[in-house]
Amino acid sequence: MTTGEQNDPWRDVKIERIEQLTPRIKSVFLELPALTSHRAGQHVNVRLTAPDGYAAQRSYSLASVPGADTVELLIEKLDDGEVSPFFHDIAEAGESIEVRGPLGGHFVWGPADGGPLLLIAGGSGIAPLMAMVRAWAADLTAVVAQTVATVEVPQVPMPVLLVCSARTPADLPFRAELLALEAARSDFTFIAVTTREPPPRPTDLGRRLDAAAIANVLGRWDHTPRHVYVCGANRFVEAVANGLVDAGIPAARIKTERYGGA
Ligand SMILES: Cc1cc2nc3c(=O)[nH]c(=O)nc-3n(C[C@H](O)[C@H](O)[C@H](O)COP(=O)(O)OP(=O)(O)OC[C@H]3O[C@@H](n4cnc5c(N)ncnc54)[C@H](O)[C@@H]3O)c2cc1C
Repeated sequence: MTTGEQNDPWRDVKIERIEQLTPRIKSVFLELPALTSHRAGQHVNVRLTAPDGYAAQRSYSLASVPGADTVELLIEKLDDGEVSPFFHDIAEAGESIEVRGPLGGHFVWGPADGGPLLLIAGGSGIAPLMAMVRAWAADLTAVVAQTVATVEVPQVPMPVLLVCSARTPADLPFRAELLALEAARSDFTFIAVTTREPPPRPTDLGRRLDAAAIANVLGRWDHTPRHVYVCGANRFVEAVANGLVDAGIPAARIKTERYGGA
């Protein structure tokens, strides 16, 4: 099901700022307070219109925590692409673009859905999964804040494993934020996978995420996932989803979002 895809109006939305997240991915922050109701995993549609009236429309997942006044999109540059190079080479803070959404009702997760939660991203496919990680982290922060006056802070264990694949360590988005979260929370595990350079840590993997690599990762994580979300380019999602099924994860637990490409 897609939420509001047909009826949602296009809105002019201002770009608040643009930051280089990795060599190939920019974070585009939009002033979109009306999106406070978005659910982690959802996306927006973006429409660019040329002076001659030609319009191109693409989807971008929301990486920010639901409720944030400024939403974050991660846009990976495809050199021969129509829309993504605009955000890397032309767009500037203060300009407006047309946006519609939030959209998507299938690839969503909220703390009420529970865990253990397994998230597997390829490149910019980390965007919707980062929204889930941030929603998960914010949820327990809220629990701690409410109970700070008591001596015992209740622990609500909801294990999360995030596996993120990229070409090189420099191409891994949000590495510092994820390492900090892993240091702070014993129920959060982050495994980086690099395919063209050695992995950053001994606990990371330096190989493609095939069935054997997925079995290795699952074997090290001491939990059976209740929900699995996989996001990235078509071929990545296909390989990972097959690997998960080979590793014994029921297909009904696996949700996928495909960004296109080979
Ligand atoms: C629900 C959804 C959410 C998405 N979220 C994001 C996101 O958060 N960040 C993001 O960067 N992209 C995301 N995408 C992909 C995005 O919508 C565009 O397809 C992408 O930016 C390419 O657009 P383009 O106009 O630059 O390239 P196009 O002109 O559409 O394509 C140029 C060439 O690149 C190929 N190509 C298209 N997509 C990919 C890909 N993913 N990998 C490799 N090759 C590709 C095409 O086949 C074509 O050969 C999402 C897609 C969907 C369906």
